Amino acid sequence: MFQDLKAAGHPAGQGRNWRRYVWPSLVPIGIATAWLLGGLDWLGQSAEGRIGLVVNLAVVLLLTGVLLLGVRQRKTGKLFRDQGVLLNGITDHLGAGVMVVDGNGAIAFSNPEARRLLGFTAIQLEEMSFLDLLLVGPTEEGLQQLATEASAAHWKNYSGEAWLKTNDDQSLPVDLTITPLRQVDSSALFVAVFIDIRDRIEAKQQLRALAYYDTLTGLANRSLFFDRVRVAIRRARRGKHGLVVLVADLDNFKQINDSYGHASGDELLGKVAQILQSCIRESDTVSRLGGDEFAILLESVEAASDVAHLAKTIGAALAQPIMVAEGEVHTSASIGIAFFPQDGESGEDLLKNADVALYRAKDTGHGSYQFFTPDMARAVVERLNIEQRLRAGMESNHGLSLCFQPKVDLQDGRVLGFEALARWSDGGRALSPAQFIPIAEKAGLIGEIGLRVLRDACNACVAWQGRFPNAGVAVNLSAAQFRDVKLPQTIARTLAESGLPAHLLELELTESILLGHFDQVNETLTNLRQLGCALAIDDFGTGYSSLAYLQRFSVNVLKIDKSFIDGLDTEVSLMTGNTLVAAILAMAHALKLAVVAEGVEHAGQLDVLRRLSLDVPISVQGYVFSRAVPLDEVLLSLPLRFEPFSNHIEL
Ligand code: C2E
Ligand code: CA
Ligand code: CA
Repeated sequence: MFQDLKAAGHPAGQGRNWRRYVWPSLVPIGIATAWLLGGLDWLGQSAEGRIGLVVNLAVVLLLTGVLLLGVRQRKTGKLFRDQGVLLNGITDHLGAGVMVVDGNGAIAFSNPEARRLLGFTAIQLEEMSFLDLLLVGPTEEGLQQLATEASAAHWKNYSGEAWLKTNDDQSLPVDLTITPLRQVDSSALFVAVFIDIRDRIEAKQQLRALAYYDTLTGLANRSLFFDRVRVAIRRARRGKHGLVVLVADLDNFKQINDSYGHASGDELLGKVAQILQSCIRESDTVSRLGGDEFAILLESVEAASDVAHLAKTIGAALAQPIMVAEGEVHTSASIGIAFFPQDGESGEDLLKNADVALYRAKDTGHGSYQFFTPDMARAVVERLNIEQRLRAGMESNHGLSLCFQPKVDLQDGRVLGFEALARWSDGGRALSPAQFIPIAEKAGLIGEIGLRVLRDACNACVAWQGRFPNAGVAVNLSAAQFRDVKLPQTIARTLAESGLPAHLLELELTESILLGHFDQVNETLTNLRQLGCALAIDDFGTGYSSLAYLQRFSVNVLKIDKSFIDGLDTEVSLMTGNTLVAAILAMAHALKLAVVAEGVEHAGQLDVLRRLSLDVPISVQGYVFSRAVPLDEVLLSLPLRFEPFSNHIEL
């Protein structure tokens, strides 16, 4: 062997052999480098892929040259140790691991980078089989075949992702190229070149996570959810067991987001995700579909009662106060439920119908759940139909009109003002505001409708001043309108355009509107007050802790809800309803608020109110005097003063 090495190292012989075996291999290296530098992308590779390819190609070609040189000189014997000096020289500073492996898998040579990546010493590697290092990659048979084929048709190699075992028992992902060398004798030889691709794998995993998981909550996203439902449906069909999709939606998320800020909103979503996860079994899937909508897939469901139980558990868990950085948040979730296969045979249908049930749950009341029924689907179609009519009507300026219901002085029957109530009639069946206002709110049409109402109401009020001097107009504001930061500006502009003095415009707000973040609500109210408008609390008594709001926000008018007026009792012996109204009136008196009694239908109710009113001035709005009428009627035929009926009931 020494002889051979000497022969190989002999200046004359070496020069000839280098010319013959090594130099030719530099030509393709040159081409490859030019390709890399020139940015040619005829193989359609990415920059990283190109670098990998060129490094592999270069190393293999160079080593092939060197090894063929050696093989040519020595047909048998311990070639590699002797060639090691040369190989080391070439591969020392290469950013790729290089190993020369014989037909039995023995590692005859490894470069420093290979040893660094795998954490073995050269000696350790020499005692190992390359096949032991290969955790994932080509098989032994595959390599044998490669060797056989390589002897017939050269330049066939293995190239692909592989996982190699490291000294600390980790697995290292690499881009591996194994090239068999043309055999001179019967033993096969391979050059394995590998590049660490941990970064690439990590990036891939991150991409996968982005593709399948929601970054905010870490839950499965919509795509993964549908994947899981598809698989679950197949399993359910085979196993003939049930499968359920639940959709949960937070009831007041928008409000929380607006009041506490988006960071708190995000934090809340994260907490909600954890709570949902804690309510279900590990085999079930919770996913965030987007916004504050979550979907849950339950497999192997036994009975509807189990699902109802789970919905209740989730409802109760989410009704607990949740801590976020800004403070304690109170929320609740509505839940819609759809069963496979009766409510849908695909993930899409199940989700759609669970959504339909969710809508119904929202209507029923915060924090409730509903199972899907075909009736609900019809209601949704109806809802969509109304939404379409509203859109078309707003575009063509048809459909919306206003009626005005007089507010009458309880004592002398004089008309003091009017409430503007929206009507919708576009040729189809007329819609009541109770039907179309909530739909307009959800469809994002309320801003436009609200503006039209405001404008028409102001103009109407200007118009009736000749007949009803100083009779103002009250306009209902929806929560969405109130949240619009431009509201005071819009109102100021509308007042200016119509020429209506601000004190004749009253804005009706429900208690729930005032529930938002105190500072924001207060700022809007202050701005509205500064314009000179009056503020009324509508449907008083049906909302939340009413007294607190009256104290906090300086409103001018309190409208006692119809339900209290309905409760007024003309019988002397049954006084409960009367006591409630008396208490409200006393409170209004103390806070110096004007009072409107809504929905008064009978003369008897007027009498009771008169008895209870003491010295609080009360206006009455109700069918007892008049329904809401069109502007024409207000201008032409509505009496200036109503007969103040009295049944003379003694209390
Ligand atoms: P609301 O503000 O409480 O209006 C009073 C409702 O009670 C009106 O129904 C009115 O017609 C009705 N009403 C008045 N007196 C009586 C009575 O003696 N007996 C009975 N049974 N009902 C009476 P309407 O016009 O159907 O409006 C329903 C609700 O729709 C309103 O309740 C209000 O919350 C909303 N709304 C109406 N117009 C608008 C609007 O322009 N914008 C907004 N955001 N909401 C509106
Ligand atoms: Ca109202
Ligand atoms: Ca009301």
